[in-house]
Amino acid sequence: MVAKIIDGHAVARQVREECRERVAALQARGIQPGLAVIIVGDNPASQVYVANKVKACTEVGLKSTVHRFAADTPDREVEALIRSLNADPEVHGILVQLPLPPQFNVRRVLETISQEKDVDGFHLYNVGGLVLGNTIFPPCTPYGVQKMLEYEDIPVEGQNVVVVGASNIVGKPMALMLMQKDATVCICHAKTRDLAQLTILADILVVAAGRPNLILPQMVKTGAVVIDVGINRLPDGRLVGDVDFEGVRQKASYITPVPGGVGPMTVTMLVHNTVQSAERLVPAEQLAEA
Ligand code: NAP
Repeated sequence: MVAKIIDGHAVARQVREECRERVAALQARGIQPGLAVIIVGDNPASQVYVANKVKACTEVGLKSTVHRFAADTPDREVEALIRSLNADPEVHGILVQLPLPPQFNVRRVLETISQEKDVDGFHLYNVGGLVLGNTIFPPCTPYGVQKMLEYEDIPVEGQNVVVVGASNIVGKPMALMLMQKDATVCICHAKTRDLAQLTILADILVVAAGRPNLILPQMVKTGAVVIDVGINRLPDGRLVGDVDFEGVRQKASYITPVPGGVGPMTVTMLVHNTVQSAERLVPAEQLAEA
């Protein structure tokens, strides 16, 4: 068996096209959806991520504004900006690019964002909503994975799902979202004993550990769906995921590549969440007419 490659760019294109149409419908009602992005310091990877987010917004007609702060900015100053953005009717989404410099209380900064504009889905309220199955904004990376599964019509209900990685931004919300779809979910982390004994049971294996070659073919069930969220830069400059792509694709039914898999979906779901936030200003019956 050779796996079908799930093309993240193709799925992202489809979602962005839908977003473009929804933005046009909002503009026709005099609403210009807007995203505010806050970046602190000069982390090169963060600069690239922010540039990609701005580009994705422009592509669908969203207005984006980037607020830049020096690395030694006191956290209260950033929180003051967030409060003014919370009150700004032209801003529908607020995103703080992580990581923040060490003097920042990251949790407090994220809690300052209004839950109504928390398009990254990291506010405690949205995380709680995820647990109850009614979050306003699902976090972008796991939401992107869910969209990829839907795009390929891969059933989730009743499937054994193993999520490798238990971070607050990927692993844990991913597990909750798939549980909500009636999968049987197991979460693994760095202290999991005998990872292979668990991954081999997975009908759907989602890997987000940040460890190149963590998942080898002998750890994967024949016919499994393998979603590789990991992004790792090797010493020779190559970008790879957490999965031995060439080996595992001989065994899986579906697999996502790195790059070109989950990556394009993360930024796309940010755009999607921002559009959805702006749509909340329009009465439901008017949206139905559009
Ligand atoms: P993170 O906060 O470092 O969390 C990594 C998780 O993996 C932790 O739960 C850790 O366990 C677990 N882990 C580490 N080594 C492991 C091992 N050997 N076996 C099993 N579990 C192990 O990372 P993250 O932010 O979730 O990101 C994970 C990866 O996804 C990174 O490569 C990141 O670059 C990538 N990522 C990609 C996208 C995208 O758009 N494609 C978005 C976000 C992140 P402990 O909890 O026990 O430490």
